[in-house]
Amino acid sequence: MNNHLGSCLCGTVSFAIQGEFDSFYVCHCHHCQKDTGSAHGANLFSQSAKLVWLSGPDKVTSFTLPDTRHSKSFCKLCGSALPNTQISGLLVVPAGCLDTEISMLPTAQIFSSSKASWTVELESVAQFDGLPK
Ligand SMILES: [Zn+2]
Ligand SMILES: [Zn+2]
Repeated sequence: MNNHLGSCLCGTVSFAIQGEFDSFYVCHCHHCQKDTGSAHGANLFSQSAKLVWLSGPDKVTSFTLPDTRHSKSFCKLCGSALPNTQISGLLVVPAGCLDTEISMLPTAQIFSSSKASWTVELESVAQFDGLPK
């Protein structure tokens, strides 16, 4: 069985995911843009994998947008996105909080009709390995 490890930015919260992910969606909806402060959400989904908090479970809080299925969990100290189990029977894991390699490619991009205009040509924008010189 696959074991995935992850943590928040400040390191207070860490966790293990035991099992396999079913799907991996990049979501361009407006809720995900607000939620992440960036262009899109990137979440792995599983109906069978088990989430085990390894440290800091008391520092994890959740928010569900009323009247929607949009829910997020995050560290109370640093605000980093963390795995969420608010939707019953479904484990949602933000791809960026994992410390272990993700072995699957995204299943699909969804809500692409809401895609932020500045991301459309992102591959053609100048790239630096680190900070610009
Ligand atoms: Zn944190
Ligand atoms: Zn979304």
